[in-house]
Order: sequence, then structure tokens, then C-alpha cells
Amino acid sequence: MPQTGRSKMVAPTNKTKKTKRKQQLRTRTIKKPVLEIDAFTRTQRLLGEVYGLEGIEIFSSKTPAQFLEEMIQKDQMVECHSIIDLGSVIHQLNNWKQLLPRVQPFYAIKAFPNINVIRVMHLLGVNFDCASAGEIRTCLSVGASPNDIIYANPAKGFKHIEYSKEQGVKKMTFDNKQELMKIQKIYPEAELVLRIAANDSKSIMPFGYKFGSSFAYAVELIDECKSCGVQLQGISFHVGSGCYDPQAYVDTIKSARRLFDYSESIGMPLNFLDLGGGWPGDKEGMKLFQKIADAINPVLDELFDPTVQIIAEPGRYFAMSTTTMAVQIHSKRDYFGAPTKIENEDGTVDFVSAEKEVQYYVTEGAYGAFNNTIWDFQKVTPVPFKQISPDVPLQNTTFFGPTCDSLDVVAKRIQFPDMDIGDWVYFNDMGAYTLTAASNFNGFESPSVYYKIFT
Ligand code: PLP
Repeated sequence: MPQTGRSKMVAPTNKTKKTKRKQQLRTRTIKKPVLEIDAFTRTQRLLGEVYGLEGIEIFSSKTPAQFLEEMIQKDQMVECHSIIDLGSVIHQLNNWKQLLPRVQPFYAIKAFPNINVIRVMHLLGVNFDCASAGEIRTCLSVGASPNDIIYANPAKGFKHIEYSKEQGVKKMTFDNKQELMKIQKIYPEAELVLRIAANDSKSIMPFGYKFGSSFAYAVELIDECKSCGVQLQGISFHVGSGCYDPQAYVDTIKSARRLFDYSESIGMPLNFLDLGGGWPGDKEGMKLFQKIADAINPVLDELFDPTVQIIAEPGRYFAMSTTTMAVQIHSKRDYFGAPTKIENEDGTVDFVSAEKEVQYYVTEGAYGAFNNTIWDFQKVTPVPFKQISPDVPLQNTTFFGPTCDSLDVVAKRIQFPDMDIGDWVYFNDMGAYTLTAASNFNGFESPSVYYKIFT
């Protein structure tokens, strides 16, 4: 395990008095906190020493977009550029530790299994949530210990459980009897975490239909664990991705407490609570993150004594802000829609076009990194590189991806200033559920990737 030097990177002090902490939370701003430059240089140095990744530049007075602009000038052959800011992970972790001091993050690598992002996470001492043998292999390859991994897919294939057993990854989730029996047969030493359904009605992507047991069924499963001597460690849930209701976390934490009580009452005390993923990660979402933290911190303190390990599985929270992406407008047309027939009083007929829309075709689309618009229901916002005066009129605009599929849309009917063929635009917060599921459909190349650290 590499040296993390965590003490300088983060500043959470475990306040004992709840009132003091509440006050602090109220006055905290969600602006990027100023971190010591040490936090970044240490990460840069360790990337070199531990992984041989030398010379990742640190920028203190340049933004990722400014860097991309330079790359666009320099390399005219590349059609889509992406910059991965490894420093953003440090900022996000610092923010997490300040706002959720009791909750240990296990990064859900599915959001962005980029090896350098995972390496930085490991250097910072973050643990991992994996969904498959392949993801476990990746985390072990950067030096994570099997104890630092939770295999948090409630429906697991045989080979994946066998691999976990070989590697000693013991913690895994389940939500039904059949899964419990399967795990017990293949890997009886596994430490089980029972996933319950959360109130996910206010999530962009609810999970309750596919995963999570009802409260009543969870009680039965606890009984089942007791009767077959399974090591039940705790309870997990996932409020769904893009959850904008702090109460969903609070309600489910309270249900988990009732299950802790039940399990204790039958002589099987639990010591592990997993708050799952869904934590917002874009700049706007940071306000919501703070609200969720403010809502759950007192509940966690009230309901769970310090012997209970509390973790979460943030994916997008860490991944989103890592990546900024630049695409070029290579084609443009005016679209007038299907003409409407108008019958005049004198019996003549006219065909009048609907309101004009400008359509751009750009170099990356929904089959590439913008698959987040389909699978993750994201709305992405293009930003022009060129200076636009505030009084330039905006027009109805659609950005299409480059393939021949008409579903390949990046941003539909947004208000946008006029652009020319050859202009470039960029998109912030493009790290989560983007490059990880991108394809080269229709023969389009993947974006170029640069790694830097922005402080
Ligand atoms: N944990 C589990 C079990 C998941 O299925 C997911 C996402 O699918 C996550 C964590 C990460 O979710 P998010 O990226 O919304 O934080």
C-alpha cells in the first residue's frame, strides 16, 4: 500500500459536539476549497514512484478548457479531445471528508474505470466498489487490498464469485434467498451485506425494480442467514442515480436501523452500513450534495454508534468533474421542419415552414462519449470556445453526433449562439458513464485523452 500522506490532503476534524458540527455545516461554502499545493505535488510524485507515470503536469493558473484550446490549435488531426483532471479527484475527496466525515467512500469504478483515476483514488486511500471480476482485477492491479473492495452487485455470476474467493474479496451484497444459497455454496466465508430497496421515486434512474429487498423480505433473509450460519455483516441500499431527495437517504437509513435492531434481537448484531451511490457530482449538484450531507449526518450519529463502519459507493460524485471534452462542428444546416398547409380565404393554399432550427453535426456523439445522454439520462451543455458577446441572439439549435443514426443526438433544441463549420465547443462534467461505455460505431475514433492535474 503506497504512502498516502492523507493528513495534509484532507482536513476533517471529528467534532464530538453535534451542535458545533451543525454550525460548521451551515456556514460552509461549496466553493472549491483552497488546498495546499502539497496535495497535488504529492499525488504527482506518487504517480511516478508507484506506477511509473512520470511528469503529469500541474496547472495552477489554467483551466481544462484553456488547455483544450491549446491542444486544438496544436493538433489539427484530432477530431475530439478530452482532458482528464486528476486534481479534481483530490478536490472531491476533500469536499467529501469535510461534509461527510463519518462515511468512508468506496469509489464505484463502473462510473469511470480509467486506470489513472483509479490509481489516484488508491493513492488517496479511497476503497472500491466493484460490480464484476473484471473490475475487481483492475482494482487489485493498482495495489488495492481485497479488504478494500466491496463486490456490490446483488446478482453475481458463478465465475465472478469464484474469482472473488480466489482473491479473498469477502464483502458482497445480496437481496434474495437464491443468491444467498449460491454464495453460501461457492464461498461460505463471504461476509454478506443485505441490500434493501430504497425510496427511489425521486431518482433519475431508480433501481428498486431490479435490486433491493423489501423490508419484510429483508427480515426473512436475516432469519435465513441466522438459520444457515451465514456471516451477515450489515445492510446496504442505493437510492438510485441522480437522486435529488435527501429524505430518501434519511428514510432508508432509518429502515436499515430497524433491521440492525431486528438482527441484534435474534443474536446476530450487525456492524456495517453501506449508503450506496447516487451522490451528485457536477458543479450544480454540489449544493444538493451539501443538503444530503446536512440531512444524514445527524441521523447517522443518532442511530449508529462509532463501532458501526459506514461506507458509501459514490461513482459519478468522483467521476463527473474529471473530464472536459471538446468537439468540432464539421457540418451545419438550417432545418425548417415539415411545412404546415394553410388555406387562404380566397381558396388558395400556402405551405408555411415551422420555426427555423439550426443543426450542427459534431465529431463525438451518443455512440461515443455522449452515450450518457441515453443510458444515464444526462443533459449536456455545449460551451463555445470563441468569445460570444452577451447581446448576440440565441437560436433554436440541435447538436447531432457524427453517425448516420438519427437517434445520435447530443443536445436537442437548446438555445445557442450561431456557430460556423470548423468551430469547437466543449462540455464540462463528462467523466461519468461516458468514455466507459463509448463505442467506435460507424468507424469514428475515440477522443484523444490527456492527463493533467489542475489545482
Ligand atoms: N453502487 C451500485 C451498486 C451501483 O449499481 C451504482 C451505479 O449503478 C453505483 C454504486 C454508483 O452510482 P452513482 O454513479 O450514481 O454514484
